[in-house]
Amino acid sequence: MSSIDSVLKENRLFPPSDDFRVKANVSGMEGYNALCEQANNDYEGFWGDLARELITWKKPFGKVLDSSNAPFFKWFEDGVLNVSYNCLDRHLETRGNKVAIIFEADDGTVTKVTYRELHQRVCQFANGLKSLDVQKGDRVVIYMPHGIEAVVAMQASARIGAIHSVVFGGFSAGALRDRIADAAAKVVITANESVRGGKAVPLKAVTDEALGLGGCDSIEKVVVYQRTSNKCELWDDARDLWWHNLVKGQASECEPEWMSAEDPLFILYTSGSTGKPKGIQHSSGGYLLGTLVSMKWVFDYKETDVYWCTADVGWITGHSYVCYGPLGIGATQVVFEGVPTYPDAGRFWQMIEKHGVTTFYTAPTAIRSLIKLGGDLPKQYNLSSLRLLGTVGEPINPEAWIWYHEVVGGGRCPIVDTWWQTETGANMIAPLPGAVATKPGSCTLPLPGIIADVVDEAGAPVEPGKGGFLVVKKPWPSMVRTIWNDPDRFKKTYFPDDFNGKLYLAGDSAHFDENGYIWIMGRIDDVLNVSGHRLGTMEIESALVANPLVAEAAVVGKPHEIKGEAVVAFVVLKANRPEGEKATQIAKELREWVAHEIGKIAQPDEIRFGDNLPKTRSGKIMRRLLRVIAKGEEVTQDTSTLENPAILDQLRHSAL
Ligand code: ATP
Ligand code: MG
Repeated sequence: MSSIDSVLKENRLFPPSDDFRVKANVSGMEGYNALCEQANNDYEGFWGDLARELITWKKPFGKVLDSSNAPFFKWFEDGVLNVSYNCLDRHLETRGNKVAIIFEADDGTVTKVTYRELHQRVCQFANGLKSLDVQKGDRVVIYMPHGIEAVVAMQASARIGAIHSVVFGGFSAGALRDRIADAAAKVVITANESVRGGKAVPLKAVTDEALGLGGCDSIEKVVVYQRTSNKCELWDDARDLWWHNLVKGQASECEPEWMSAEDPLFILYTSGSTGKPKGIQHSSGGYLLGTLVSMKWVFDYKETDVYWCTADVGWITGHSYVCYGPLGIGATQVVFEGVPTYPDAGRFWQMIEKHGVTTFYTAPTAIRSLIKLGGDLPKQYNLSSLRLLGTVGEPINPEAWIWYHEVVGGGRCPIVDTWWQTETGANMIAPLPGAVATKPGSCTLPLPGIIADVVDEAGAPVEPGKGGFLVVKKPWPSMVRTIWNDPDRFKKTYFPDDFNGKLYLAGDSAHFDENGYIWIMGRIDDVLNVSGHRLGTMEIESALVANPLVAEAAVVGKPHEIKGEAVVAFVVLKANRPEGEKATQIAKELREWVAHEIGKIAQPDEIRFGDNLPKTRSGKIMRRLLRVIAKGEEVTQDTSTLENPAILDQLRHSAL
């Protein structure tokens, strides 16, 4: 692949305030540079010191990194620990009465759980799992509503050394079956129903359906948490049991299973934005370290913080920044069952005010949809408790960033735009908020100890302003260990021969700017080739979103006789979807706008308006489906993780 052309220019710079910088865990660029230097001088010593500082080990590790079977790297392998012990037991003495979770249900009901109570609930449930003969190394599928019990189930699984595989509670029976079968799980933990946005989803019924599809013979028990008073349609006495009956009479202490740092903690499937989901396998020690380091550096964690990551536990963000990072570091966190738009688009802001949230972490897709639904709504709430904002999941378009910064953050809160992946386990490229000045749309600099680079097809660094492959040049503790059941796919996907198997290939395209900041340009799979120029999707989309009429945009290529590829833009307006004359008029305006903002080369040849875009259930735009639609072909690809299939039809018929 030749390098990618960057067309978007964004120069606004936001340094941390003096006040933020002085109090920050990593203060000023001196602080950041000092850490980078330590990592450069003694890479293993650097990570070893952090692992000793942040993790409580049952038995200390001797060796930090074992590269003898690269790319199957091992970290702290002879160290012994338990992740749940690190998230719960070790806090009991000093934080036993501290609130661990402020749970807000869909209907607004609030439940608070202290570290001591959470510990007790996890122990009881862990003992319950043991009574079902769940043993170290067994796989447990968790298909639950987002809430305290989901966290309890994950922590209990970690406590007894089982490997959990959380499946998002919005996935279909087929997607659930595939994941159960791939992991050959022994137990499914689910709920009778989940409730989101006032609507119930019958999780138990979907589980029954999934198990009925075949291939799930490994399942011995289905544990059902009773979330609502509604009955389950089917009940198999030999297989199904209620959560409350399972924990009844169980001891509130449970000796943790002591694990090697390399024992798998969980498997989690990727979002499926670019193809069939991959079963990403994570370790115990290295993974935990990644979450803790980033809580300290990126989220600048303080004992008094009220932390809120809005991600569902079904995604990696919910694993690292709901279940493990915040609990590992001893934080008080908000866990929210519902959706940002129910009962109205002010829900997030209302909750920030109500719970005094200091640190708020969400996704660009949520930000864009909340701008569309009520850009002024945050002003109706007192958001002065906020001190730090974060985003993850997709590139954040500069205009959405500015809104987030000004309207939500009152111009006062640094924004940490965190680039990372299911595979990386924890934040990789993100501004340390008391050190790195931010630029809207850039995830800025790698964390100290993360050796990220942008290279061309030969693996050579590309010059600033030119796009290329985003890679990581050294193994890091929280990296993916393998793809479950498929080590070959692991090697081919992430350590391909093209780079002699030496570089971790992230699958994203990126470029450096003149300050050495990294800009994610999109997925490698999505790069457009227009008249010999290779363009990332992010920049054209950002130009479109910068137009006041536009809420969201996705850009793909379609074959074009002369140019190679033509630019097709799928656009969601803040107002309703335009039709007829009006649509033609706005499309013309938008074309001119893009030509003016970034140049004629990026001007969409075709614009299609929709009420929404096809998204994964984690809210990411699935451009691979849009490419098929742009070409006028039938969608035959994997759509198991698609949130809103009906939108495909609308977009198919929306060509202007
Ligand atoms: P699949 O690998 O199955 O296609 P996926 O890549 O969407 O799915 P995730 O691991 O959930 O699965 O997402 C990671 C990807 O999300 C990154 O590779 C990147 O493309 C995108 N991403 C995450 N955070 C950011 C960010 N801050 N800026 C830009 N892109 C981001
Ligand atoms: Mg991916």
